[in-house]
Amino acid sequence: DQNLLKKIIAHSKEYGYVFPSSEIYDGLSATYDYGQYGVELKQNIRNYWWKAMVQMNENIVGIDASIFMHPTTWKASGHVDAFNDPMIDNKDSKKRYRADVLIEEHVAKIEAKIDKEVAKAEKRFGDDFNKAEFLSTNGRVLDNQKKIDEINARFKKDIEEENFEDLKLLIEELGIADPVSGSKNWTEVKQFNLMFSTELGAVTEGASKIYLRPETAQGIFVNYLNVQKTGRMKLPFGIAQTGKAFRNEIIARQFIFRMREFEQMEMQFFIKPGTEMEWYENWKNKRIKWHKSLGLGEDNYRFHDHLNLAHYANAACDIEFNFPMGFKELEGIHSRTDFDLKAHEEFSGKKLQFFDSEEEKSYVPYVVETSIGLDRMFLAVLSSAYTEETLEDGSSRVVLRIPPVLAPVKAAVLPLINKDGLPEKAREIMDELKYSVNVQMDVKDAIGRRYRRQDAIGTPYCITVDHQTLEDGMVTIRERDSMEQRRVSVTEVVSEIENAVDL
Ligand code: ATP
Repeated sequence: DQNLLKKIIAHSKEYGYVFPSSEIYDGLSATYDYGQYGVELKQNIRNYWWKAMVQMNENIVGIDASIFMHPTTWKASGHVDAFNDPMIDNKDSKKRYRADVLIEEHVAKIEAKIDKEVAKAEKRFGDDFNKAEFLSTNGRVLDNQKKIDEINARFKKDIEEENFEDLKLLIEELGIADPVSGSKNWTEVKQFNLMFSTELGAVTEGASKIYLRPETAQGIFVNYLNVQKTGRMKLPFGIAQTGKAFRNEIIARQFIFRMREFEQMEMQFFIKPGTEMEWYENWKNKRIKWHKSLGLGEDNYRFHDHLNLAHYANAACDIEFNFPMGFKELEGIHSRTDFDLKAHEEFSGKKLQFFDSEEEKSYVPYVVETSIGLDRMFLAVLSSAYTEETLEDGSSRVVLRIPPVLAPVKAAVLPLINKDGLPEKAREIMDELKYSVNVQMDVKDAIGRRYRRQDAIGTPYCITVDHQTLEDGMVTIRERDSMEQRRVSVTEVVSEIENAVDL
């Protein structure tokens, strides 16, 4: 629902979650800045991940590697040679697109037609509707499914054979138009490397070219031995890291879903060769559980197995999330074999092995990785949280139903009126709460409007201080989602809120 995406973008800006980068200069495409609430949500997601991965697993430790790495890193990893996307320019609009994304979007349109047929039939047949049977018998659905299969097969073959001429033909035959200008006047398809480069210092003979890392993983691979030795780690063990990565994405619409500068949360798990399928399944399970534990809706996730494996993988899948644009990749889980460590051994001339004392031999470990985009997770949280509601009295509200553990502000303390000692009492409560949770005080406007503002920010609890409070020491706690109000003693408020938002 593109309309929902638009609303989320507008809401994010209005309430200090996400701003277009350098907006006073009309922004910079595919880069965004996180505002006062956005930065808190991002931090909470990062902490929630870190706690699950590092704190809860005694055999996983964290590092923080630098963004700049020795240029040979990217030769070894294959990024210099193989980190390319097939691009096509539109001759009229002069805009450049990823050929694969153009085709993907075309396929999504055909899929939408199928969904429409299903919805229509569902309505017609009601409880008697058998979806599986319908999909395998309805003529229009079968035709469309056949089209999709043919397009996908041809696309896959073209990519495998690097047959860019046919890829261009495919785009033309499908009648794909430039989404901006509507023109179908395309150039050849060409490969472009996605890495950003810059120059390192003024070395004797001019500068030397270095890259901004396009993934955080390589910082972990090159530190494998450092961590293994200094941490006295035994297989299996993991190294986790969160940090910025940079890709010169060409199709970079869809808000923070695809950016040129983004943040990854990755964990590389080093294991004994031969055990990779077991660990691959294990991490698939663990990661989907992590997602579902957040309560963004169990039906919003699905696995997508890669048939077309990257050069380094022997098994790979995505966890897809039901974003406003449909199901898209949120996290990747890859069995990377010993590809990376072996390549770094070869290029660096250093051994990157593990001495297995049971087997009495050394070998290069295999790796299973989990890799999730922090910004995509942020968008997943926002898109499942954003809700427009009509209330019983006919008025409406926008509420962000963010899981309390992730909410930027856990509680707002609201003196009913801004005098008579109420603000002072409110500040007392706030001063007690602020040591453990992020809390804010709001004294402006009528109480109803202040509740609405906190709903829009996603604050799970409002604590209202009134005249009665000064007499009996009780406050009102209002719960964001149910809007239910309860009287609780001030002394209990702190522990009540802390419990409710505990990790
Ligand atoms: P896509 O196919 O969507 O470009 P990818 O398969 O290239 O993604 P990976 O290389 O597996 O992605 O990176 C791991 C994770 O990093 C992805 O699952 C995604 O959440 C995140 N990610 C990748 N590229 C971007 C980007 N340009 N902007 C935001 N997040 C990204």
